[in-house]
Amino acid sequence: IWADVLGYVRKNISEVEYHTWFAPVKNLGVQEGSLVLGVRNSFAQEWFRKHYLELLEDALRSLGAQNPQVSFQVLPAAQDALLLPSDPPPPPPAPAGRAAPAPAPVENRKVLNPKYTFENFVVGPNNNLAHAAALAVAESPGKAYNPLFIYGDVGLGKTHLMHAVGHYMTERFPGKRIEYVSTESFTNDLINAIREDRMTQFRNRYRSVDLLLVDDIQFLAGKERTQEEFFHTFNALYENHKQIILSSDRPPKDIQTLEGRLRSRFEWGLITDIQSPEYETRVAILKMNAEHNRIDIPQEVLELIARQVTSNIRELEGALMRVVAFSSLNNVPFSRAVAAKALSNVFTPQEVKVEMMDVLKQVAAHYNMPPDVIRGSGRVREVVLPRQVAQYLIRELTDHSLPEIGQFFGRDHSTVMHAISKVTEQVGREPEITAAVETLRRRMQGLEDDEH
Ligand code: ADP
Ligand code: MG
Repeated sequence: IWADVLGYVRKNISEVEYHTWFAPVKNLGVQEGSLVLGVRNSFAQEWFRKHYLELLEDALRSLGAQNPQVSFQVLPAAQDALLLPSDPPPPPPAPAGRAAPAPAPVENRKVLNPKYTFENFVVGPNNNLAHAAALAVAESPGKAYNPLFIYGDVGLGKTHLMHAVGHYMTERFPGKRIEYVSTESFTNDLINAIREDRMTQFRNRYRSVDLLLVDDIQFLAGKERTQEEFFHTFNALYENHKQIILSSDRPPKDIQTLEGRLRSRFEWGLITDIQSPEYETRVAILKMNAEHNRIDIPQEVLELIARQVTSNIRELEGALMRVVAFSSLNNVPFSRAVAAKALSNVFTPQEVKVEMMDVLKQVAAHYNMPPDVIRGSGRVREVVLPRQVAQYLIRELTDHSLPEIGQFFGRDHSTVMHAISKVTEQVGREPEITAAVETLRRRMQGLEDDEH
């Protein structure tokens, strides 16, 4: 029935809309007469209620339902990962010339989110150490770093990297057992096992694996019984050279009320962090996402989104969805202006964050001069003016201090101060400089398209 519903939907909306909204939806079955659909976040939930409820009801009606009802549920991040993809990948072909089939890697696939692979992980300066460590662990599990401890703020790719190791091992070493669990499900599982007198089964589950991925381990804090059990799980795996990967929003030393013996174990292997992505990495992530969802969207629009959404990758992806939805519903092509409008209720222009390099590049483009020349040592007016304008705009549009700006230009802070007061004097007086500053400022804030 779900396939029929999708078929109906697909005929009635554009491909872009379909891929953006319906491809990630999970059918959670019929509960109390209502078709329940799992969506990725509350924004999507609200969106479905507003825009697709009737369409879905029509679809059900067309299949003969008398009083169709549809409801939407936000999938918790971990559960999202626990569900099978809507079209599971075909089983690998049996190797030729051998009668016995290869050991089946099926078990593992269902706990891993198919999107969270190394191929889909964009590497930047913010995450390259964590990425390299994860790859090393995937290549020689139990030997490279054990445990691998990855920490960082929410939405920066910890779960993604853990699953990537799982996928990699599934492919490389079919037959290896992999378990992915959030600390919360580990705790619940333990509680149930104790209550139902199934401790042996519980222990078998976690101690017989080749790779154990435990997500958001900071939630162990204050849970003594769980810590005790996890301690034994950890030891059993470690002694057998089985790989353990842990994630957390903070390093082990900052997890309060964590037993000392666990903390020290977490520090035995390698501790690595993931930081917020910088501008170039954000653009690359958006680009990959657009390609993944088969959305054809110009680079400059991606750049605008990347400039506006700086906090985390989940929000970055949400912003892209918003822009795609906005242009497909209003039936307008993607442009910077459309994107700025689509994001304007969520991210006001004052919040626009720009990086020093962005400003420099825009200034360079405006004056038709390579960025390095502007940053270089040239003293002729043709170079000095753009340099001063760039410093002025950086001071205005970013949070960087004078010494930081100075460093970026290979100069000291008093030079920057001089540049800023020079431009300040001229803005409003010299028409050419005034126009340049105003155009560049608007462009940096994403309010104006590059071409006029
Ligand atoms: P965390 O576990 O740190 O909260 P997730 O792993 O759930 O974050 O990542 C949030 C979203 O961002 C996911 O959709 C993930 O695929 C995506 N993401 C994170 N890092 C990257 C990256 N480097 N390249 C591509 N996508 C990423
Ligand atoms: Mg996570």
